[in-house]
Amino acid sequence: MIIPFVDLKKQYNDLKSEIIPGIEKVFEDGSFIMGEQLKEFEKNVSDYLGQESLGCASGSDALLLSLLAMEIKAGDQIITTPFTFFATAGAIARLGAVPVFVDIDVKTFNIDCSKIEKAINEKTKAILVVHIFGQCVDMDSVMVLAKRYNLKVIEDACQAFGAEYKGKQAGTIGDFGCFSFFPTKNLGGAGDGGLVTCRLPADLEKIKKLQIHGSKKKYFHEFVGINSRLDSLQAVVLDIKLKYIDGWNEKRRKIARQYNQVFSGLVKTPQEVLPGKHIFHQYAILTEDRDALLDYLQKNQVAAGVYYPLALHLQGCFKYLGYSAGSFPISEKICAEVVSLPIYPEMTESQIEFVIKTFTDFFQKHS
Ligand SMILES: *Cc1c(COP(=O)(O)O)cnc(C)c1O
Repeated sequence: MIIPFVDLKKQYNDLKSEIIPGIEKVFEDGSFIMGEQLKEFEKNVSDYLGQESLGCASGSDALLLSLLAMEIKAGDQIITTPFTFFATAGAIARLGAVPVFVDIDVKTFNIDCSKIEKAINEKTKAILVVHIFGQCVDMDSVMVLAKRYNLKVIEDACQAFGAEYKGKQAGTIGDFGCFSFFPTKNLGGAGDGGLVTCRLPADLEKIKKLQIHGSKKKYFHEFVGINSRLDSLQAVVLDIKLKYIDGWNEKRRKIARQYNQVFSGLVKTPQEVLPGKHIFHQYAILTEDRDALLDYLQKNQVAAGVYYPLALHLQGCFKYLGYSAGSFPISEKICAEVVSLPIYPEMTESQIEFVIKTFTDFFQKHS
């Protein structure tokens, strides 16, 4: 049996009869950019999140647009995590601002909120948290600090569409919430796509202009923005998938429970921290035997991934920030031990069982 890491073909086959007519209509209408389909999706996704939201070209752009809306400038400091996809810190650095990393919590892989305060100084403008792998950061702690020091909060919810914190949707607790619709995300389009949601209507209005080169009236520009829109073809696909996202997330949670039942005796397994709802964008375990495990899984045709092999403070492009090995020991340890296993709603019971058996066999042979 071959277990892929995700199965987008299967998902497409399930949805083909809905997707194709929707795509055809975009071509027939010729409404590729800023058309009705985008408005419809923005309305539905805003209803889902309970907060007004705007499509944009990618999750990376969602982050950039949020920072631009805050008027982040060269030299400003933004507190964030070194254990995330590059885009989180890339958006900060791109504006000449400084990513200030804070180590993570070993249990959730999220930023360790007890260490944030020490990193705050007069140059700090915002805290950019990442709900890594689909589990929310302890947002109450973050919001208390943000209020005390008058900081903005951006939530990178690119892996957390539909995750919750105390009954609130991920991305709707801070000032800005950023989502990615990259095809392999739990809500994924047929190409690049993203979304920004804003707590304050004024911020949303600003991003509405920023994403079309800083103009409201065509060809009249109030400020310098970027070109970052979600195109109609993506909006059609995402609007269809949005109807299924809750069921899909539940399926992920169910697979995680099945894995945990067996794997918790073998390795460190991911735990859901209450009162939050983890949507298991990734199912990530920790083991000191990582390389041997990866080899074994590959030989037995079970796909696996390493998110992430190198923490951001050790990336070549961030050498100038002055961090070194040992700066963030927990992030570094997790980068050395983490393995993500296949978890997606299209997995069949026999595929799940095959992953469980292969994984268990490895540890029996190696103990
Ligand atoms: C995927 C992802 C992004 C970037 O999204 P793109 O749509 O690929 O630009 C940013 N942050 C995190 C945590 C991500 O997982």
